[in-house]
Amino acid sequence: MRREASYVTATTTPLPTAVEPDVDLGPATGLTCRECGASFPLGARYACEECFGPLEVAYDYRGVTRASIEAGPRNIWRYRGLLPVPSTVTEVPNLEPGFTKLVRADNLAAALGMRRLWVKDDSGNPTHSFKDRVVGVALAAARELGFQVLACPSTGNLANAVAAAAARAGIRSVVMVPSDLEQQKIVTSAVYGGTLVAVEGTYDDVNRLASEIAGEEEDWAFVNVNVRPYYAEGSKTLGYEVAEQLGWRLPEQLVVPIASGSQLTKIDKGFRELVHLGLVDDAPYKVFGAQATGCSPVAQAWKAGHDVVRPVKPDTIAKSLAIGNPADGPYVLDVCRRTGGAVEDVTDAEVVEGIRLLARTEGIFAETAGGVTVATLRKLLASGQLDPAAETVVFNTGDGLKTLDAVSPVVGPTATIPASLEAFRKAVSA
Ligand SMILES: *Cc1c(COP(=O)(O)O)cnc(C)c1O
Ligand SMILES: [Zn+2]
Repeated sequence: MRREASYVTATTTPLPTAVEPDVDLGPATGLTCRECGASFPLGARYACEECFGPLEVAYDYRGVTRASIEAGPRNIWRYRGLLPVPSTVTEVPNLEPGFTKLVRADNLAAALGMRRLWVKDDSGNPTHSFKDRVVGVALAAARELGFQVLACPSTGNLANAVAAAAARAGIRSVVMVPSDLEQQKIVTSAVYGGTLVAVEGTYDDVNRLASEIAGEEEDWAFVNVNVRPYYAEGSKTLGYEVAEQLGWRLPEQLVVPIASGSQLTKIDKGFRELVHLGLVDDAPYKVFGAQATGCSPVAQAWKAGHDVVRPVKPDTIAKSLAIGNPADGPYVLDVCRRTGGAVEDVTDAEVVEGIRLLARTEGIFAETAGGVTVATLRKLLASGQLDPAAETVVFNTGDGLKTLDAVSPVVGPTATIPASLEAFRKAVSA
């Protein structure tokens, strides 16, 4: 039987013993298999040698308090005592993601008949998506593990974040993307001057190729392949921030977009750690997952009541979420089931409407992934799965400027007029 995704602390499970002696990854003590529980030393491993299950970082947390966190910098490194990064992480050259705004969304709430709604707006990160968080942690861990090249297969935003962070750290980057990606995302990766390879195929083809290369280029840290356990932990900071920004408490409902599913599972992990450490009260919360119908393998599995996720071939404008074979899909099902949430999907037309709704109510221009999340929020309300009276946080994980093509066909000037007062009056009174 599959074990549920779990986190490990000193008080719940014996520590793995075989820590490589000269690796300083802060509170991280080793890697644990999410399936069979086998332990491994810290290093560039990602699959269990016993059962091929995915590995997860195990910790021994010491002395993390609300006060110690609040005394830290206003970025993800305020949580370094909970992350697999060297204790000197704030001193290495890096972009500093995190501590993005938690926006009280009263207008959107009113439009949807909700009471208390927040948008966690991660478009405010250095390269305008939540991927700066995971790359920040992956880079810090990768350098400590001795890597000199940062690489990734990407649906776009990850390539931006890797190329930018590597440029700033003064190391080489090699990023691989599907060749049919939005032009904006190609440009916003290429501008940083690293190696950018456009691959003719889907993200899943790119990912497969990257895994082959990772096996050969042992000096390259593929952030989401061979150092994936560290990368994944970066998403916990979204959960920590939401809790801290709410005044050290948990919201009642969350709506989170799903690509590989890592982000959703790690927000949940972050919440559970805060409860375990006594930093927030243990209050129930429901996690809802959001996908685009054109790439909705997790939503399909959810609706069919399956434990496994059957891969699909993506066809959606939400390209940043277009992973047909999501690595963390089964763990997403676990989290949504355990917390009483659900996984739902929305059409591309609903995605565009979601982007426009968020923009005209809150002044936030989301990329297609944010449109997926807002549209899913709306659909879950309509079907009665989400409680309009319960405090809810939706995650906007990217910036609309990177996916202009999604909305440019349906928005434009109200009028185009000759430069005369009369023409203006006529145009705006209509
Ligand atoms: C990558 C990405 C996600 C989801 O990431 P996973 O952790 O792979 O599920 C969500 N939103 C945006 C904008 C992304 O780029
Ligand atoms: Zn295992």
